[in-house]
Amino acid sequence: MPSKKNKNHRELSLQTKLIGAGLSSDTQTGAIAPPLHLTSTYGWQSIEEMPDIDYGRTGSPVRQHLEKALAELDGAVSSIFTNNGMSAAQLILNVTPQGAHIVAPHDCYGGTYRLLNARAEQGHFSVDFVDMSDERNLDAAFKRRPSQLWLESPSNPLMRVTDLRKWIHRAKEAGAFSIIDHTLLTPLGLQPLVLGADIAWQSTTKFVNGHSDCLGGSVSSADPDLMEKLRWWHKATGAGGSAFDAYQTLRGLRTLPLRLERQQQNCQKIAQWLEGRKDVAQVFYTGLKTHPGYEIANMQQKGHGALLAFKFHGAEKERVANFAKALNIFRLAPSLGGFESLICTPFTMTHAGMSEKARLAAGITPDLVRLAIGLEKVNDLTADLEQAFTMMRT
Ligand SMILES: *Cc1c(COP(=O)(O)O)cnc(C)c1O
Repeated sequence: MPSKKNKNHRELSLQTKLIGAGLSSDTQTGAIAPPLHLTSTYGWQSIEEMPDIDYGRTGSPVRQHLEKALAELDGAVSSIFTNNGMSAAQLILNVTPQGAHIVAPHDCYGGTYRLLNARAEQGHFSVDFVDMSDERNLDAAFKRRPSQLWLESPSNPLMRVTDLRKWIHRAKEAGAFSIIDHTLLTPLGLQPLVLGADIAWQSTTKFVNGHSDCLGGSVSSADPDLMEKLRWWHKATGAGGSAFDAYQTLRGLRTLPLRLERQQQNCQKIAQWLEGRKDVAQVFYTGLKTHPGYEIANMQQKGHGALLAFKFHGAEKERVANFAKALNIFRLAPSLGGFESLICTPFTMTHAGMSEKARLAAGITPDLVRLAIGLEKVNDLTADLEQAFTMMRT
């Protein structure tokens, strides 16, 4: 990314690079912040001289700055910024060969499940949804010779931990591609390409933008040929994110390290606070020593993210609804990674795209509550939860 020459050739830290992304790139005015160009088309110098970007579907200057920063974060040769997370997933499916066999987590993101399932039903490929947190499923999963492995760890919302290195290693042996969604931990918390995966993708709607005001996604790889193919498809299908969304996302990205750190701290405190409560049967958060997979999580990820889930002791549906209603700071909404705290019930909200049978098989029961932790003062958040527990009981 263009920045002032570093006189003593010291490698800059990632945080400093993010702050510098695209700064002073406008030579016409000297603007420090990169400008937003609201134009669909760009002029050619002559009929022979095509500019770097000539049409908005292919890109925009601010999107290029963002993509460079995202590639830097992922340790990729390049990255593509897409309209949203699902459009990043669909972009990957465009380079998935017809008739391929895919193995994906049985409790993957609800939208990913819906997309893979629907495309499989259309006959584009076949898919097996497997509990990847259980290594005993490894052999069976590779029996049908998958050519793609879709991975997510920790899973959303039950925070199941998959030993990513093990599955990636096995995929490599079998000549299969591994594709990791690292939305939950962000590129700062999980580095799929460093772990050996072929593709890293995410929804930047969540932590990377972090302000709950626009959507976006990204796809990255260390393989230049693969990125070229993906870039061709992104243009052919119009998967690229708008200049405005790229502008917002780049702005959000600059403070990602700070936000993530604080949100993780808040989440860790709330997880521990919940764990000791008599109303709570189980807390799902990889930052808890009692969490199965705590050790593997610590080996492959940095930090534990700001999403947790819990189950009540014997609460029926109405009481869960009352609990959600009684909260003042936590808002009832899907999504995560924004500056604001949210609550949702995955069974009726984020994972409603899965059949009831699939939801129950994945452990997504009606009494499961998911909290996305924001940047509020943590004492205010626990006080809000405390009064909602009291309200629920009465
Ligand atoms: C939100 C999300 C997606 C989808 O992203 P959108 O931006 O909503 O399209 C994919 N994976 C995970 C883990 C997500 O949380």
